[in-house]
This record gives sequence, structure tokens and C-alpha cells, in this order.
Amino acid sequence: MSGFIKFLGTGGARFVVSKQLRSTAGIWLNYKDTNVYIDPGPGAIVKIRTSKTRLEPEKLDGIILTHKHLDHSNDVNVLIEAMTEGGFRKRGVLVCPKDAVSGEAVIFSNFITKLDRVDLMEEGKSYTIKGISFATPVKHIHPVETYGLVFHFEPTIGIISDTKYFEALCEHYKTDILIVNVLRSRPIEKNDEIDHLSLSDFVTLVNSIRPRLAIMTHFGMSLIRERPHILAERLTHEIGIEIIAAYDGMTVDF
Ligand SMILES: [Zn+2]
Ligand SMILES: [Zn+2]
Repeated sequence: MSGFIKFLGTGGARFVVSKQLRSTAGIWLNYKDTNVYIDPGPGAIVKIRTSKTRLEPEKLDGIILTHKHLDHSNDVNVLIEAMTEGGFRKRGVLVCPKDAVSGEAVIFSNFITKLDRVDLMEEGKSYTIKGISFATPVKHIHPVETYGLVFHFEPTIGIISDTKYFEALCEHYKTDILIVNVLRSRPIEKNDEIDHLSLSDFVTLVNSIRPRLAIMTHFGMSLIRERPHILAERLTHEIGIEIIAAYDGMTVDF
């Protein structure tokens, strides 16, 4: 094993955030001696500190924000403060879209100077945080600037963050382990935000990409009601690919 992905949160969207039906803390990613945090939503610092696996934010080498929505970024400032030991030790890399640090920014401007550097995301760009290399292959369709991530490990790992479905996702996220933010059980409900993947979009993606393992996460209310692990079991049989529904605290070694 070279590393692990720990899902400290598997919930997303406003009602799940405010009710905390699932944690919205995001993902800790370890690869050899490098640690990065992906999308520190509300509760990230609490989940890190109370995790049974000993996780120390002082040892983080970087933070990745796929976009600035609250359920992905709420704890980013507190995590920068923890990573830099209260701001006294200048260190760590932040990789995020431009609109997270300019305009209606979600990162405090005076916190930027605590970091070693900030790398702004762009379509097709690659980044390195110590021993971890990854790319943001394509800009997503979402109300704010959003990217998914492809990590160049063996096995390759893709994370499709919030987006409306579009065909190019299938070619850009051809990976061995595919993690997808599946917010909704049905394509369109009432008038609420529709720039999210539904369960049927997820099936389309998995059928096209055919990863070794597909993981659903970032569940909204409608999906949680339908019990994600039951859906995952059913889809595993139907598609013939191992599909799992992430749960809070779940660790995947790779
Ligand atoms: Zn989200
Ligand atoms: Zn979003």
C-alpha cells in the first residue's frame, strides 16, 4: 500500500450541511510521506481531531479546494491556520480556483501570506504538492469555478467534484479508482440547483469509464433517503463493476 483516502465527510448540499445528516468534512489523502486535504467543508477540523486514525493537520502539505461553495470550503481558513501552526510557520500549498481567493473570496487575504504558495487552477493544468502530482483536466459546469482532480498514482484516482453532467467527463476521468460526487437521486427536482450529478449520470459515467472501483460520495438529502449502500449493491450487480457508497470515516487504501 502506498497511501489512503479517508472520507471524513460524505454529505453535501445545503440541507445535509445544516442538519449534518452526514458529515460534510471532506477528504484526507495520504500518499507515501505527503498529506493533502481536499474540500474542507463544515466540520473538517472537528472530524480531523476526533478521527480514530491519528491525523495531524500540522503535517498537511497542502489543501485542495475543488470550488468555493460552502460545503467544500467552510473550514479552509481554520485548516490553513492549523497547517501553519497558527500562522507562525510559513508552509503548505493551497490549490484552488481563482474565484476562491479574489472577488468574493472565501480565503482570508491575510492568510495567503502564511502559505508557501497558492497555485490557481486552470483547465488542463498539473500541480505538485511534495510527493503528490495531480491535474484538473476540465472545467466543470457549476455556478462557481469548479474542477475535478486526477491523481497520477498507481492506481490512478479520479475525483469528479460537483458538476452538471457533460459528455467530456467520460474521457477526462478515465481512472482506476473513480470517486464521484453524486448529489441527487433523480435528474431534476423542483426548481433547486440542477448543476449536480444524479444517480443516472453516475451510472452513465461508470459504464463509460469502467474503473476498477467506483465510489459514490457527497450525498444530498434525496440520495441519503434512498440509502446509498443499497443503491451501490444493486449497481454493482447491474453494471458488473465494484461500486461502493462512501460512509463517514471510511478509509480506502491503495
Ligand atoms: Zn457540493
Ligand atoms: Zn458546489
